Amino acid sequence: MMYLFTPVGLAALHTFATGSTLYAFDLDGTLAPIVADPAGIVIPDEVRRCLIQLNSMAPVAVITGRSRADALNHLGFTPHCLVGNHGAEGLPGEDAADHDFIRLCQGWKEQLKLLLPDMPARGISLEDKGETIALHYRHAPDMPTARGSILAAIARLTPAPRMVSGIFVENIAPQHAPHKGAAVEILMGYLGCHRAIFVGDDVTDEDVFSLGNPAVLGIRVEKDEGSGAGYYLQGQHEMVKLLREMIALHEWK
Ligand SMILES: [Mg+2]
Repeated sequence: MMYLFTPVGLAALHTFATGSTLYAFDLDGTLAPIVADPAGIVIPDEVRRCLIQLNSMAPVAVITGRSRADALNHLGFTPHCLVGNHGAEGLPGEDAADHDFIRLCQGWKEQLKLLLPDMPARGISLEDKGETIALHYRHAPDMPTARGSILAAIARLTPAPRMVSGIFVENIAPQHAPHKGAAVEILMGYLGCHRAIFVGDDVTDEDVFSLGNPAVLGIRVEKDEGSGAGYYLQGQHEMVKLLREMIALHEWK
């Protein structure tokens, strides 16, 4: 993987920024710095200002693990497309599937209440996000044990969900729910975009980076040689620089 702000990296960005490019971003750790309590994330004012400007010039999508309602509260503006729940919520034309996912999650929620009756005492909290469920153990007095009991309970759920691990959280999603990579490709088709640039920082963003789709340029926040992304930023603090570059390329074209 290569640092984006090099002549080669900027040339790639230039090539991908066409008149029919989708600009897609993860939220936590990408548009906003990671903080200890996810409820407290703040998108820096200049990032928001640049995003709103880019959104007025080109199709912008935010694809996040949060629910859409939660993400909207933090974004403070409405992008062209807002996809929540790791790809499972809000994709155009997928309303019927959304309802199936919610019904599956309600079933898992009832099972989890029986499998983990002592969640509060273990410091585990269940977040019902609609199309997915998050089991947080950030506040558990014994985090490895709490995580172990979460994994044991998930293994007993029927039908078996897809698991998405995060920082002090295990998420479960329906097996056939679109992941972030599928979401990017569905949005490209829906919007008629021939190219996409996706920026993300986490394990779930690898579903986009590892698509192997030559029409999708992957940019990871922070270098990680294990990532499928072709390019990286040195940190979230470079997001404004990237957005300004995208805006300038668009103005120029
Ligand atoms: Mg992230």
